[in-house]
Amino acid sequence: DPVVGVLALQGDVAEHLSALAELGVLARPVRRPADLQDLDGIVLPGGESTTICRLLDVFGLRAPLRDRLTAGLPAFGSCAGMIVLAREILDGRPDQRPLGVLDAVVRRNAFGRQVDSFETDLAVAGLEGPVRAVFIRAPWIEQAGPDVQVLASVAGHPVAVRQGSVLATSFHPEIAGDLRLHRMFLDVIADSTRPLGR
Ligand code: GLN
Repeated sequence: DPVVGVLALQGDVAEHLSALAELGVLARPVRRPADLQDLDGIVLPGGESTTICRLLDVFGLRAPLRDRLTAGLPAFGSCAGMIVLAREILDGRPDQRPLGVLDAVVRRNAFGRQVDSFETDLAVAGLEGPVRAVFIRAPWIEQAGPDVQVLASVAGHPVAVRQGSVLATSFHPEIAGDLRLHRMFLDVIADSTRPLGR
């Protein structure tokens, strides 16, 4: 069975841990570089990406995490987690540095102040029937590289993507009670550990 970490610096860590536990996965919080050992995948939760990016440096996690991710450790970022994975952030703090493992330019708080948060039923490629998607001060993808597969869009902007072993959503599957995106992440993990699956 896969062991999946949840980056536990800030944000809705508990929600991801319980979503994974509900799927029967061994899930554990990641706070220190040593916690990255023996993981088969890692979730980057929603929260506040400026804080998470800063704490990656405070906790000495930035380089070891980026090394694991570039070596192929599967990752699933939701909302702030998508921002942290991206190559470039628009409307970020000037000193905010993402990990750069998802070939995408992500705009923070992209839906504007009037629509701080909203829910919608979203068609997601590969899933049968719409996903109840909760957006909270959510980013969208402004520009995606050629290897980025768009799984869902809102108003023409990608809000769910996959690039190899990296999965990212602008919305929060961990708080909507629909576990299909987490299950999709487990499929990504299975793909990446299968010898010929890469
Ligand atoms: N607006 C937040 C950020 O920029 C993301 C919000 C969220 O994760 N719900 O990090």
